[in-house]
Amino acid sequence: MNEQELKDALLKKRDEIQGGGGIKPLQVSMENNTRQGDMADQASGNNEVHIQLKLKQTDAKILQAIEEALRRIEKGTYGVCRDCGEEIAPARLNAIPWTRVCITCKEKQSS
Ligand SMILES: [Zn+2]
Repeated sequence: MNEQELKDALLKKRDEIQGGGGIKPLQVSMENNTRQGDMADQASGNNEVHIQLKLKQTDAKILQAIEEALRRIEKGTYGVCRDCGEEIAPARLNAIPWTRVCITCKEKQSS
């Protein structure tokens, strides 16, 4: 993948997250406005809000990683592991273009 394609992929993913975040809260507020729900409906509505908050936190992390990846492309340090300084495998970058660390360091983190 060349630099421009990489930027496009990252920007597209960023738009996806930001665009998706704009639609979901609208649906929630419309459901709340129907005012037909009994207690059970209200409870399930609350669960949905919690799930969406969780999703939002994940999205926020990815957004931050995307911004960092874009900055690294500008600096010419993209594709280098933040922790060990080794080059990240192209297959991993293809799968997760905003990743900061190589697979070895990632596995160390999660264990
Ligand atoms: Zn590493």
